[in-house]
Amino acid sequence: MANAEIVAIGSELLLGQIVDTNSAWMAQRLTALGVNLYFKSVVGDNPGRMKEVINRALERADIVITSGGLGPTQDDLTREIIAEVTGRKLVFDEILLDQVESHFKRRGRTMTPNNRRQAYMPEGAIRVKNPNGTAPCFIVEDSRGVIFSLPGVPVEMKWLFENEVEPYLRRKFNLAEVIHYRVLKIIGVGESAVDDKIGHLIAHSSNPTVGVLALPGQVDVRVAAKAADKEEAMKLIAPVEAEVRSLLGNAIFAVDDETMEKVVGKLLREKNKTVAVYEDVTCGLLADRMRSASAEHFLAGFISNGTSSLRAFLGGAREPDRLAQTIRDSAALTDELAWCARAQAGSDFGLALHSIPDPKSQEQNLARGETYVSVTDGKTFKRLTSTMAGRGQYDRTRMTLNAIDLLRKALLDGMS
Ligand code: ATP
Ligand code: MG
Repeated sequence: MANAEIVAIGSELLLGQIVDTNSAWMAQRLTALGVNLYFKSVVGDNPGRMKEVINRALERADIVITSGGLGPTQDDLTREIIAEVTGRKLVFDEILLDQVESHFKRRGRTMTPNNRRQAYMPEGAIRVKNPNGTAPCFIVEDSRGVIFSLPGVPVEMKWLFENEVEPYLRRKFNLAEVIHYRVLKIIGVGESAVDDKIGHLIAHSSNPTVGVLALPGQVDVRVAAKAADKEEAMKLIAPVEAEVRSLLGNAIFAVDDETMEKVVGKLLREKNKTVAVYEDVTCGLLADRMRSASAEHFLAGFISNGTSSLRAFLGGAREPDRLAQTIRDSAALTDELAWCARAQAGSDFGLALHSIPDPKSQEQNLARGETYVSVTDGKTFKRLTSTMAGRGQYDRTRMTLNAIDLLRKALLDGMS
């Protein structure tokens, strides 16, 4: 199987001014093609270091893909360096010049003399037309491996990768295999608990392989298989997916690019149920996500920030005379908040998320505090409590996700 290495070129990437999204995108495409990727590197516009990195890449990979440094300016050095590394002269190419000139003509601009630099490429390189920009690209078939030089501009790079690099690699390396994967998204079970349940699959799997990725409030299990085509890969994935499902059950809330919103929106539509929410520390995040789950089934969002607005909201509580007592009991209070959200909006479900952050806790993630979630259909309640309640983005995301998940479980259990 062929091995590839990606070299992203540009000092702005090293300075952190621009995030190297090109390499991440190419990595996904190479995986799908069934090409192994063992190394990615980022190098500045420095001739010595570019040479070093590209040389090393050629030594250990069959395919080297560079991005960036093909423009007309003095710091665009990729052409020169690839010529040097492969022991070739840099030669002027009429056809490349035509391509650059016609690109300028089409856009009604005049070409400046420095654009002539772009009409050079290493001797014997295969020219590749770049219809989306001026920077021409090329392929050098060296004795140590093949080098593709692609422009840094993401739209240009992506087009060339799909239309030139992929077909070339398929032909040249006889790529009959694809890698396909399925992602199972898990909530309410931490990374180590997931590992505890399916660790044997992670440790002893080869095709498919099983991997775990932890996100705020969510753990993704990836089952990846290599096969002749997607269908074959899915056949290999199926029994492993079934085993993961049997071990994690309802904690798996979505697959692949499904989101919690999509899943809950679908359930609300299927069961034709409406919902209203109350929230405090998440300050609109829950309402926003519920609205995107299903705009027609989300009737209202109530946000309070402080005890006085919370009291005002509870004006319609079930037992007003017991209010003072309820406010002291956070779990009972959250039930009441869910109840009032439902009653005030006239919805089927009321969902409340009430948090009491610890004022001394400084953490931006997993901050101390108490969070209570309650969902009611006007008859019974489903509850969730946790011992964290931060105002940081991760905590708010996690709490929101957990609250929507409680509604998902209520809908699945046939509550209401
Ligand atoms: P150009 O002819 O446009 O100068 P180029 O091949 O010289 O093409 P660069 O100058 O290196 O490309 O990069 C052009 C722009 O493309 C950068 O300013 C940046 O916005 C984007 N870019 C470059 N490399 C990357 C990368 N690895 N990931 C994401 N964006 C990138
Ligand atoms: Mg440039």
